Amino acid sequence: TVGAVAFDSEGNLAAATSTGGLFLKLPGRVGDSPIPGAGVYAENGVVAVSATGVGEVMMKLSLASRIASLVRSGLALEKSLDEVVSLASKLFGANTVGIIAIDAQGNYAENTNAEVFFRGWASPSEGLLRSPSK
Ligand code: ASP
Repeated sequence: TVGAVAFDSEGNLAAATSTGGLFLKLPGRVGDSPIPGAGVYAENGVVAVSATGVGEVMMKLSLASRIASLVRSGLALEKSLDEVVSLASKLFGANTVGIIAIDAQGNYAENTNAEVFFRGWASPSEGLLRSPSK
């Protein structure tokens, strides 16, 4: 997966997710990434979310829109991601999801239950930054 979330100077939120699918996927398998609400979701005033991992898990949880619902109801972004990653772990096990998100205040959060989750971020003032893999 290659995913991105963005917040511009006018407060617009955007998210994108691209995937080649899972290794050895069945022919005809539909990926989660093109399904809004599963692997990708953005709504101005609320949140932008991009997710990677096991697509079936993201679809079953409506993962990205579930995060949006939590944020919309007033839960902090980090707690919203915590809650959804915990739910994914409880229902489907480890190594199932990795999420990046940014809210309408420009707060960035990330969370995963995977051993490896490469991600990076950039800001106009700090330039391109990259966090270590997990
Ligand atoms: N989420 C993708 C899928 O299940 C896999 C990935 O790109 O990480 O097809």
